[in-house]
Amino acid sequence: MFRSLGILFLSLILFSAFALAQDQPQTKSTTEIEVWNIVCPIDGKAINPEIKVITYKNHKYGFCSEDCAVLFKENPEAYIKNLSNDGTEFLGKSGNQNLKENK
Ligand SMILES: [Zn+2]
Repeated sequence: MFRSLGILFLSLILFSAFALAQDQPQTKSTTEIEVWNIVCPIDGKAINPEIKVITYKNHKYGFCSEDCAVLFKENPEAYIKNLSNDGTEFLGKSGNQNLKENK
């Protein structure tokens, strides 16, 4: 009788520990989602989550490499123009911004 109660109690503890452990990776991934842009504002490559995020004008910018983050810090105003209004597309510096804004 006492033994089966003990097993029930133990499995309850194990279950809650398992549920807690499952919560941890979720909090990690939300910090990655916080980055506003999905492409690098300097060259349009995919964001590397290991590169430090830079906050500029209420947006958190991610970068593909440490070099790009350094370039952005020097002249953020020039590089944010390379991104579309929602940060999902790289428009580049070639002046085809008018085409993309036609939505
Ligand atoms: Zn880059």
